Amino acid sequence: MSKYSVMLKKGKEVSLQRKHPWIFSGAIKQSGTEIPEGSVVDVIAHDKTFLAKGHWQNGSIAVRILSFEKTKIDHKFWVRSFKQAAATRRQMRLPSADNNVFRLVFGEGDYLPGLVIDWYAGHLVVQAHSIGMYEAREDISQALQEVFKDQVKTIYCKSGDTLPAGYGDDKNGWLFGDAESTVVSENGNKFEIDWVTGQKTGFFIDQRDNRQLLSQYSKGKKVLNTFCYSGGFSVYALNAGAKLVDSVDCSAKAIKLTDTNMTLNAEDGYEGKTYAEDTFKFLKENGDEYDIVVVDPPAFAKHRDVRHKAVIGYKRLNEMALRKIKAGGMLFTFSCSQVVDRTLFENTVRAAAIEAGREVSILHYLHQPSCHPVNLCHPEGEYLKGLVLKVGK
Ligand code: SAH
Repeated sequence: MSKYSVMLKKGKEVSLQRKHPWIFSGAIKQSGTEIPEGSVVDVIAHDKTFLAKGHWQNGSIAVRILSFEKTKIDHKFWVRSFKQAAATRRQMRLPSADNNVFRLVFGEGDYLPGLVIDWYAGHLVVQAHSIGMYEAREDISQALQEVFKDQVKTIYCKSGDTLPAGYGDDKNGWLFGDAESTVVSENGNKFEIDWVTGQKTGFFIDQRDNRQLLSQYSKGKKVLNTFCYSGGFSVYALNAGAKLVDSVDCSAKAIKLTDTNMTLNAEDGYEGKTYAEDTFKFLKENGDEYDIVVVDPPAFAKHRDVRHKAVIGYKRLNEMALRKIKAGGMLFTFSCSQVVDRTLFENTVRAAAIEAGREVSILHYLHQPSCHPVNLCHPEGEYLKGLVLKVGK
């Protein structure tokens, strides 16, 4: 039994019986004493039947479920959970000789809501999205060291941007060892990752499979990679033999990362340039010579109430890109806004193609990779979607 328990209103147990990993505050009948945020609580039905255990937090998602059994949330629990996550990744051939960067834990998709752990050649970045996971960071670090033994080089907690403002004063910092960057291999492409100063956990691992697909089409082509961050798509195009690779990002820091990674893969230089510029501005003034354009913007909508504005943004962006691409060329276009679902995104791109007056066919439907699994009862975990379009006249 946990020290704290919360009782659900009658009928509110059904979502848990379906293994949904969240309990909203409106479902709670009573929570007894004042519960400290981040505590493990027992969740019980109105008739006192035990339902699950999870992390308590004030706010709309009140409990994030860790177990549907009466398991203790102790060292053994974390060890078991990470062994399970690692076993699933091994089935995905992660890591392998060519791939030593992957997401080891993806929150709800790994039944560990609120927790993300990325693996960069033995350097682990732990990102807490809930107070419970943040409070458990030392236990998490201990368990990771036990499971991966000397494969673990460092463990860095990077939760500064993912926890409620004002909570915790040590949200970014080392839990084990202290290195700031490393060079990893993704499908044989080299990248320097800096998890301390980089965006998110340091790298957009979620585009791995989609970058690999770009390689297939890049040989001899002129490629433009917009919203390039650290040059993920650019490096793949380069290594696949593209004739020219240009990269655009509004952040000068991101462009510096792209320059570093392009040099890492092409020591003698390459055909192409990097531009620290706004993509909309760049596409307005340039872009007639490209065979392939990649458009991978940040989430335009983080909430439902700004979805409409985001859709207008996606439409404008895709229309601009579609107008520029050479006849017979291709567009790789993405949205990582969770609230813009697959159908809405496709409809938006369709509207953009009509507006641009181009002949467009869908060649591939893209999504996040297997190391970002989606819990079937938690479709909110699906966020990345993309289309590969063949652009005719
Ligand atoms: N495709 C990248 C990830 C893109 S993340 C990869 O594979 O790693 C989104 C990037 O868009 C960030 O680097 C951010 O700096 C950049 N960005 C945001 N708004 C922008 C804009 N208006 N113009 C250009 N870049 C922008």
